[in-house]
Amino acid sequence: MVAEIICVGTELLLGDIVNTNAAFLSKELAALGISMYHQSVVGDNAERLKESLALALSRADIVLTTGGLGPTYDDLTKKTVADYFGLDMELHEPSVKKIEALFQRRNWPMTPNNMLQALVPSGSIVFFNDYGLAPGVAVENGGKTVIMMPGPPSEMRPMFIERISPYLQQKTGGIIRSKTLFIFGMGESSVEDTLRELMTTSANPTVAPYAKQGEVQVRVSAKADSEAEALALIDPVVEQIKQKLGSVVYGVDIGSMQNALVTALKQKGLVCATAESCTGGLVSAAITDIPGASAVFAGGVCTYANALKTKLLGVGEDTLNRDGAVSAETARQMAQGVRALTGADIGVGVTGIAGPDGGSDEKPVGLVYIAVSSPAHSDVKKLMLSRGHKNERNSIRSIAALHALSMMLEAARKA
Ligand code: ATP
Ligand code: MG
Repeated sequence: MVAEIICVGTELLLGDIVNTNAAFLSKELAALGISMYHQSVVGDNAERLKESLALALSRADIVLTTGGLGPTYDDLTKKTVADYFGLDMELHEPSVKKIEALFQRRNWPMTPNNMLQALVPSGSIVFFNDYGLAPGVAVENGGKTVIMMPGPPSEMRPMFIERISPYLQQKTGGIIRSKTLFIFGMGESSVEDTLRELMTTSANPTVAPYAKQGEVQVRVSAKADSEAEALALIDPVVEQIKQKLGSVVYGVDIGSMQNALVTALKQKGLVCATAESCTGGLVSAAITDIPGASAVFAGGVCTYANALKTKLLGVGEDTLNRDGAVSAETARQMAQGVRALTGADIGVGVTGIAGPDGGSDEKPVGLVYIAVSSPAHSDVKKLMLSRGHKNERNSIRSIAALHALSMMLEAARKA
């Protein structure tokens, strides 16, 4: 089965928005075992969209489009596809009701063009939109399928995962399930090297690594007739990978480091707090990204100036004078200090030099100390996070934040 993507939108051609829909769909289709050899971007223009459609349908069994399903004059994807196949348009009643209800609830006047969103090519398969107004649509015609999805990623992604992926799996025969291992503390090339044999010899399930900022994920995907069969293929391989990689695997299907941390803290009934300098609040922002963080996060302080490190966290002036703000001892006192300040079970302290200025021979840019303090486990780490490139400030800060989360996770798990 071969698929092709067409992303519709003049904004994409002008570079006003980044084509994240194509990246998302490419990954999802690959995980479903569907091949793709071409993708294209076309502006909001019916003639050119028709040309792209014809070309894509000459090469692929399934064409997926995103964008142009909305109510305005430039939203012409559904009409263009209907014209291409010689189909009329008809109203999709559940979508009509949804649109009417929204306008009533908000007490907005409804202009007639709003109902354009509820029009679909006749005889098509409709994917109700739980995250917006315009439904997704599949047209099956002459052995080919065109699937149209809304442009906004907040609508397109969940629609794909919840409705379109199952529809595609039905078509490809059998179902695909996958599990993802989350890895921190080992680079992509080492992960690949360790798993190379498994990756090349295993066809079902497949084993594929993905590098993320500072971490690596390994996705294990299997195709089978049922969910149980797929999991029976996946689970032994996940176990094998865990054994090969060891403690750098911090979770399976855990979503993110901060989610792993919040989950672990909840399980143990623990509360954490953060004291940040060079990360400027990135660690607390990551924790509060997770819904329900209030149960496990007391709060954080961003103590950039030395005086504030002393005043709020009780970092000794003698320590700051002797060892400096960027030192193991300062990090340790920040972690202890924020526990004392908040009453949290686990405290973390982060201090470092993110650059580009402020480095010295003794304390170069990228030097970061992170300390964790808790009754069961305390630790301090010295990290050298520079790779010697320009413009590293952001990556140094976000990787330092990941380390801080990881060290808190270790403390939570040891508690
Ligand atoms: P709407 O009902 O909001 O008009 P639509 O289905 O008509 O949705 P578009 O009008 O094409 O979609 O795009 C709406 C918005 O969705 C864009 O302004 C952009 O923010 C986002 N978007 C569209 N296409 C993409 C894409 N390929 N990648 C990322 N974002 C996109
Ligand atoms: Mg639109």
